[in-house]
Amino acid sequence: MLKVGIDIGGTKIAGGVVDASGQIIEKLRLDTPLDTGELADAVAAMARELSSRHVVSAVGVAAAGFIDKSRSTVIHAPNIDWHDEPLKARLEERIGMPVTIENDANAAGWAEYRFGAGRGTSDMVMLTLGTGVGGAIVLNGQLFRGGHGIAGELGHTRFMRDGLPCGCGQNGCLEQYASGRALQRAANDIADHHPRDIGARLAALRDEKGAIKGPSVSRLVLEDDPGAVEALRRIATALGEACGGFQAVLDPELYVIGGGVAQLGELLLEPVRIAYETALPGYGERPVAEFAIAQLVNDAGIIGVADLAGEDG
Ligand SMILES: [Zn+2]
Repeated sequence: MLKVGIDIGGTKIAGGVVDASGQIIEKLRLDTPLDTGELADAVAAMARELSSRHVVSAVGVAAAGFIDKSRSTVIHAPNIDWHDEPLKARLEERIGMPVTIENDANAAGWAEYRFGAGRGTSDMVMLTLGTGVGGAIVLNGQLFRGGHGIAGELGHTRFMRDGLPCGCGQNGCLEQYASGRALQRAANDIADHHPRDIGARLAALRDEKGAIKGPSVSRLVLEDDPGAVEALRRIATALGEACGGFQAVLDPELYVIGGGVAQLGELLLEPVRIAYETALPGYGERPVAEFAIAQLVNDAGIIGVADLAGEDG
């Protein structure tokens, strides 16, 4: 059975026709319209185009934001001017098919659970390190959505008292210390404070390019540059410590780590595991979770939300 999955990102809308084994048969991309009023039309047009060439039973749409428990309404979206937006109804009248909407991090986590690094587990947590830290919780084989539909915002758990301000209105949130953006901040900090020793190459890079971007830090980590390795260690430590706390609450079997920084693989996971074990209550006296890198990379949102489309769970 084929379904359509569409992932609305801040700059791109990506959609695909996905089969029951999580394979994408056809894929489309377009720029996210700047005008919010055009967004539903653009998503609906993509869904209609994809379903015109395949026999499709349902459509799933993933977006960043708080989705209500009935999965009909976007309560709030960080990048789009939606407030209590009845997105499901708006899309169904344009597409003429059942539409399921889902938080983008949940969709990505669900894809990893069904078809990626989380296969074979029943209790899994996914953390996606990007501009922020996206979270998804799978408990007993189901996405955990909480009492109002908006659980799993693990990037907005408080990591530091009186810490850095966060876009959510709080301060000290984990995503300020463990995201791709936090890696850039750490690299800049090391360039500022250690320009003549471990930060020398980071400082030179910043002088040359005007800014330090995440992929450049990753490249320097692969070259074993001590400043870049230290920047990575800082965000890995924050992430691992936070997972130690999540373990006390959720006791998952597996953490799946995604996002651009996760392409560093074991170079990221090793310091994460060390910090996790340091922060884990009862370490040595209890089973510990595994850590793995996400496998579906950029397509996870499409695959996950297509799989969830038409389902009641
Ligand atoms: Zn926050």
